[in-house]
Amino acid sequence: MVTTKNIESKEILEELLDTEKLKYCFECGICTSCCPMAELLGRDYNPRQLLEKVVLDPKGTMASNEIWFCAWCYCCHRHCPQALKLPEIFLRLRTRAVDDQQHTEPLNNALRKIVQNIPLPLVATAVCLHPERANLEKKKILEKIEESYLEHLRQKKMERAQKVSEGKVAVIGSGPASLTVAYELSMKGYGVTVFEALPYAGGMLRKCIPESRLPREILEKEIGFIRDLGVEIKTAVAVGKDVSFSDLWRDGYKAVFVGAGAHKSQHLKIEGADLGGVVHALDFLWSVNSGGNADVGKKVVVIGGGNVAVDAAKTALCKGACEAVILYRRSREEMPAIPWEIKEVEEAGVKIELLAAPKRILGENGRVKAIECIRMQLDELDESGRRKPVPIEGSEFTVETDMVIFATGETPDLGFLPSQVELNEDGTVWVNPLTMETSLQGVFAGGDAVTGPATVIEAIRAGKCAARSIGKYLRSLGRET
Ligand SMILES: Cc1cc2nc3c(=O)[nH]c(=O)nc-3n(C[C@H](O)[C@H](O)[C@H](O)COP(=O)(O)OP(=O)(O)OC[C@H]3O[C@@H](n4cnc5c(N)ncnc54)[C@H](O)[C@@H]3O)c2cc1C
Repeated sequence: MVTTKNIESKEILEELLDTEKLKYCFECGICTSCCPMAELLGRDYNPRQLLEKVVLDPKGTMASNEIWFCAWCYCCHRHCPQALKLPEIFLRLRTRAVDDQQHTEPLNNALRKIVQNIPLPLVATAVCLHPERANLEKKKILEKIEESYLEHLRQKKMERAQKVSEGKVAVIGSGPASLTVAYELSMKGYGVTVFEALPYAGGMLRKCIPESRLPREILEKEIGFIRDLGVEIKTAVAVGKDVSFSDLWRDGYKAVFVGAGAHKSQHLKIEGADLGGVVHALDFLWSVNSGGNADVGKKVVVIGGGNVAVDAAKTALCKGACEAVILYRRSREEMPAIPWEIKEVEEAGVKIELLAAPKRILGENGRVKAIECIRMQLDELDESGRRKPVPIEGSEFTVETDMVIFATGETPDLGFLPSQVELNEDGTVWVNPLTMETSLQGVFAGGDAVTGPATVIEAIRAGKCAARSIGKYLRSLGRET
């Protein structure tokens, strides 16, 4: 018998099978094994099984709690042998659930699970879950989360009153990885001090993520909750400059967590890169977010294809630029930025020049005046699994500009670490991925300092894993004495 339910199910399924390549799923499970949310939520979330449910019962799956857990880190997509875009599939289910008014109870259940299992739930909801994408009012969802978070914290604090654990821990940096470590360890009764080089706590959450995505009052509240647990946050204290790494042991810290992020900008070595008006995206975003008078050009060219490039271009337009162009050397398909972010900046008026790379920056009186570019074409796959861009000879063209923003990648700045902490070839910290221990006993690391630029949810996952290992390590020290 053909019912309305069957017709709707068929409709949803057909849409997903074709546009999002659902029919190519091999059920290998790689998506689940690399998903930070699956690790944080345990049995409550299994993306591979969720895909299977979508095929068997799309309408029923729309009303499940699980469709609300995807945190848009795209780890699944990057590792999937078939490059399935799971986040897009789950977003379609979310929006349909909201359109059909089937979302209220599943969403409330999901939010409760998030509060119970994910440290920094306010931040995670704002920057990872993006409720507004499914046409929900972000403010209301954040209010709901805050209410159950306060209750959760009250209960946890009562449980903690019985626990005092031996051992002080030093945490370097105050981004999401570090704040997670501080939260988790302080809940277990350990004393925690966070050292932050910048005058404000929050890492990239404070420094670069646009206020429209993460209202600063939300971040302040989240940090306030962590301070209320007794965590000491020392801002404007850079380890390696104001305090040496070895001083930390002298000052009685028994373990150290390195959550220093990836804040060293990679500059393209091209002619004119040192002209006035050429800046790196992180410096530009920080100058805007720190309340200073950011210098914004009228015609801005942003080089790069990731979320940082997109945020920089959007911010430039918001701050008074008349024109913003993103220059990306591969095709749209390979752009690492989230597809909806790309669509949104285009709608806001940002032009995206694909398959084009900068050749040199031209200046006048020490300031940028134009950028010479060259058209690219895609060749064979390179070691990153993407088609390699190669220049097309003789295809040079010039774009007039008075500001060039490099959004061409960041690496960690870890010169303050002792040589016993081994680094990988790309400058990230080597860790045992199961424990987040570094090669130096008592030192743990996580977040962008280990992965290179990634996402908030991956940093939270790493922080939670490291806090577990640090707890075990401190208990083992207690047994030795
Ligand atoms: C423009 C932009 C937009 C982004 N948007 C999103 C998004 O929408 N969603 C998402 O999931 N992710 C986003 N990200 C990525 C996300 O912000 C990072 O992956 C995440 O913040 C990494 O967390 P972390 O704790 O490892 O380090 P960070 O957040 O980078 O924090 C590290 C902190 O350590 C401090 N530090 C470094 N060295 C020292 C030292 N020697 N002593 C003391 N302190 C030190 C730094 O000052 C910094 O505050 C964005 C990133 C950028 C740049």
